[in-house]
Amino acid sequence: MDLIFRKANLPDGRTGIDVGIEQDRIVAVESGLRAHAAQEIDAEGRLLSPPFVDAHFHLDAALSLGLLRMNRSGTLLEGIALWGELKPHLSQEAVVARALAYCDMAVAQGLLAIRSHVDVCDDRLLAVEALLEVKRRVAPYLDLQLVAFPQDGFYRSPNAEGNLLRALDLGVEVVGGIPHYERTMAEGSTSVRRLCEIAAERGLLVDMHCDESDDPYSRHIEQLAAEAKRLGLAGRVTGSHLTSMHSMDNYYVSKLLPLIAEAGVAAIANPLINITLQGRHDTYPKRRGMTRVPELMVAGVRVAFGHDCVMDPWYALGSADMLEVAHMAIHVGHLTALDAIEACYDAITTNGAEILHLDGYGIFPGARADAVLLQAADPFEAIRLKATRLIVMRAGKIVARTSEKFTALNLSHRPETVTLNFRPGSIA
Ligand SMILES: [Zn+2]
Repeated sequence: MDLIFRKANLPDGRTGIDVGIEQDRIVAVESGLRAHAAQEIDAEGRLLSPPFVDAHFHLDAALSLGLLRMNRSGTLLEGIALWGELKPHLSQEAVVARALAYCDMAVAQGLLAIRSHVDVCDDRLLAVEALLEVKRRVAPYLDLQLVAFPQDGFYRSPNAEGNLLRALDLGVEVVGGIPHYERTMAEGSTSVRRLCEIAAERGLLVDMHCDESDDPYSRHIEQLAAEAKRLGLAGRVTGSHLTSMHSMDNYYVSKLLPLIAEAGVAAIANPLINITLQGRHDTYPKRRGMTRVPELMVAGVRVAFGHDCVMDPWYALGSADMLEVAHMAIHVGHLTALDAIEACYDAITTNGAEILHLDGYGIFPGARADAVLLQAADPFEAIRLKATRLIVMRAGKIVARTSEKFTALNLSHRPETVTLNFRPGSIA
């Protein structure tokens, strides 16, 4: 074998596991593996996880913060307006350079698969061409999946339909939408219907920004689920954001959740962005805005989390850290029980991989040898510490490495280093 990780913990709770790798594949996952490898790494009870997956991002806008001006109100609508001001000033070289810099950051954070929406409401399709170029360049180390996203409205923006079809012809592989930004609820519904038909005709996946508002009467996810059912698209359609569900009437939601589950539609919450963009028109109490993550999970809906934005017109912070995303989801969604925390880990790993239809994702014989070794024992500790990524591996090759983090202490009668890695119940 080429490489063996010894005595690793896995996200499913198994401990002391050896993981053997030949070329770009995992070939053995067992305890006490009787084999030798050119390189052996003692994981010493640390978590060896499949890489993080960001199921919802905007790579064309990432790292553009501070160009022209800042978003003063902090609202989605001012963000869209600011992005519209920026668009004529974008150059393909600059979009490519910022996107590649972000992908470097992602690799260092163990984030090796990103679904990025790309704005098609620009007759030059500059961002589309830039991100297709980035997709080709990062392919050896990062799976970048692109969604044709009519940012200014499929009907509201004059050439959006033609531009979206051109973007799909160029190789963008997922159909996006933004029904809550169309002029009327009715036009939003029509856009959902038309976009799902385009996806069905072309055999493509669907991922729509849906009901990204605090409007309790926004109903586009209902329409999306109905279209998925009508067109036989179960397992191929995702509703992103769904923040209006936070504000909906409980009775209506009790009917809506089973409909989403029955239609096989997945949901993506973007906790960092939902908690900051939503509730901006509230005084007090201020709504949190994140969709009903625990209730969706209980209803059997596949839920993943996205980072959505990093240093762009909508969000000033972020560092490609999906553990930070899960950490925020836990707080915003009251997901503090141990099994809920573990479910949030799935939402930044396996659930995203399933939504993106990634092949060979996971730690099992036959999987592609993609993994991240964390300075943590399990998913709970990984999220609690936003743990250091010690080793990031892609197709059997180590693509990032970070030293373990320890802080030297200078205290009398205390140890010289501090450890943050405490297990529940480990201190008597
Ligand atoms: Zn988005």
